[in-house]
Amino acid sequence: MSLVLVANRAPIRPTSTGWAPALGGLASALLPVLEAQGGAWVAMQEPDERTPLFQRYPDDDPRFTVRRVPLEEPEYAAFYQGMANRVLWPLAHYLVEHVEPERTFRDAYRAVNRRFAHAALDVAREQGGAVQFWIQDYHMMLVPEMIRGALAGAQVGFFWHVPWPASEVFRIVPSATALLKGLLGSDLIGFHTEGYAENFRESARDLLGAEIDPEGVHWQGRHVRVEAHPIGIDVERFVGFGERPETQAQAEALVEELGDVQIVLGVDRLDYTKGLLLRMEAFERFLELYPEMHGRVTLLQVATPSRTGVPAYDRLRRDMDEITGRINGRFAQGAWAPVRYRYRSFTQEELAVLYRAADVAFVTPLRDGMNLVAHEFAAVSERGALVLSELTGAADYLDGAVFVNPYDAEGMARSLREALDLPEDDRRRRLASLRAAVERLDVHVWADRFLTSLDGRPAPPADGE
Ligand code: UDP
Repeated sequence: MSLVLVANRAPIRPTSTGWAPALGGLASALLPVLEAQGGAWVAMQEPDERTPLFQRYPDDDPRFTVRRVPLEEPEYAAFYQGMANRVLWPLAHYLVEHVEPERTFRDAYRAVNRRFAHAALDVAREQGGAVQFWIQDYHMMLVPEMIRGALAGAQVGFFWHVPWPASEVFRIVPSATALLKGLLGSDLIGFHTEGYAENFRESARDLLGAEIDPEGVHWQGRHVRVEAHPIGIDVERFVGFGERPETQAQAEALVEELGDVQIVLGVDRLDYTKGLLLRMEAFERFLELYPEMHGRVTLLQVATPSRTGVPAYDRLRRDMDEITGRINGRFAQGAWAPVRYRYRSFTQEELAVLYRAADVAFVTPLRDGMNLVAHEFAAVSERGALVLSELTGAADYLDGAVFVNPYDAEGMARSLREALDLPEDDRRRRLASLRAAVERLDVHVWADRFLTSLDGRPAPPADGE
């Protein structure tokens, strides 16, 4: 059966010599599936992007089609920066003060979703024969219902990559019921955790009056299955990065460059959901509580530029510069700077060097659907400890972490000390347990498990137990 994927980003990117798989777990998990099954990937073409609208890939042995849907201003801004980034993103992460709904966002979202649904139906028709549709994430909530409206017997899966909030929070968005109905055009809706799946079922019950059961939602004469399918990383790829001799050599050089301190590492997009300001406050509190650690520990914080031009993100960038300056101004001595702040994008090979060099990964989002940085650290680190926010999806699976409440700066400061002081054998035991969990959640297993379930065959249990 061929597969038609719908996601906002395309799975391939132009390089100086042709085309290559896009970076990131989704492309690495789904490209092999598409190559094996054949089909198409429907993605957006941004206003200034020069890419083909139809493309067969790979060039030398075409196995599937990349179909791009061109978006123009001002529709693109209202759909993507508006509805997706300024309404649905903060809502899903419970950060309601950042939710800024506007009527134009809603209209553009519906219009763009319709164009994606039409494109998906077109490419499905070209495939002929049986087709599975798999729609990805919060940019595309209305697409399942639109596909089902045109093709009643379609097999439609949807995966939601961010948290699903409590129904009382989800109902804040003015088009909440329309969005829920859109999703319920699916046969199967996947979430990272059972908690998000439960919130979704309850939203359908509370806002639509739908009958629900532990497996899903009864809707318009169909049973829509709602399941937890936790995503992971391409474990082999990251373990490979970690084992390269040059990764190890660069990690040693980095430790030396920072003055043989213990390294506490943060790696995040510069996003208000990541809890960066509270993390900095926690580190400041750590320095106040433990003066004996001055000169011995450095926080290395990577903040990757993201969604620039959205006011909340621009504000966060200024706040991070200010708080970094304040902490370094208060505590720096001689060559030791307590905070090393890197505002730029890193390749995953470069991140592997940082994971390898770190003593502690300090992963403290206010909310996060999963958090793959925690998985990557566990796959690459040989001796580190993981401090992990209990409000991430990863916290459901990564036994072996030191768990923290990301709103409690004092508690995080104390837990950071605990993680730095973990005895060697305890650290190794925890890391082994983290590594085992990360291997069970490998992204290839995720894709296979979801599609198997969509197909109606029994899927293996999510946690392998
Ligand atoms: N990442 C990257 N370069 C960077 C920062 C992050 O390639 O400079 C990657 C990182 O390896 C991880 C992903 O971006 O795979 C971040 O995923 P996560 O689930 O932690 O957060 P998201 O950014 O999706 O909210």
